[in-house]
Amino acid sequence: MAKSTRVVLLGPPGSGKGTQGAALAEHLGVPYLSTGELLRGQAGLDTELGQAIAATIDGGDLVPDDLLMSSIHEPLEAAFAAGGYVLDGFPRTVSQAEYAERVGSPDRVVYLAVPDDVARQRMSGRNAGARADDADPAAVERRLRVFHAQTEPLLEFYAERGILATVDAAQPLALVRAAIQQELA
Ligand code: ADP
Repeated sequence: MAKSTRVVLLGPPGSGKGTQGAALAEHLGVPYLSTGELLRGQAGLDTELGQAIAATIDGGDLVPDDLLMSSIHEPLEAAFAAGGYVLDGFPRTVSQAEYAERVGSPDRVVYLAVPDDVARQRMSGRNAGARADDADPAAVERRLRVFHAQTEPLLEFYAERGILATVDAAQPLALVRAAIQQELA
């Protein structure tokens, strides 16, 4: 089988998608795209769109698709056109996955599995409070609920397509990294 170069990382908040995604993209030599990072960039702008996005992210809800697409459309299309990518944070719902199928479907989806308690510990420990959605326990719980309700159904979506790999992401970083590379080799 040819090496996978269109990779989606799925996982709850705190599962390590950002850390692993950036390293994996470098390893594969493809662009790394984090919708959370892109949205936080928009949220920092003093615009109406930025303020709406900031309020949604800080509360732990998903950004509605219309706002999301206006922020990520261009980098996403560029990554699809480049023929390879590591996507972190997109798709996050079945309707986003259906959109991705139409414009540039992944050839491998890696699920970074961690128990909720590990995810909670990581969120409370990271970035020394840099992110409001990590610092606020209510936002943390909402993000976990949103993950289970809206993103978890994607596991079946991609399992049915035969492209899902599950990695134990509660292991130390280097082991998770090695396990991901092994799944994609
Ligand atoms: P985490 O996985 O730790 O929650 P991210 O940086 O991936 O961190 O996402 C932060 C926030 O950005 C999410 O809680 C959500 O509000 C928003 N977001 C990111 N990706 C999407 C997406 N595909 N659809 C809607 N909202 C998104």
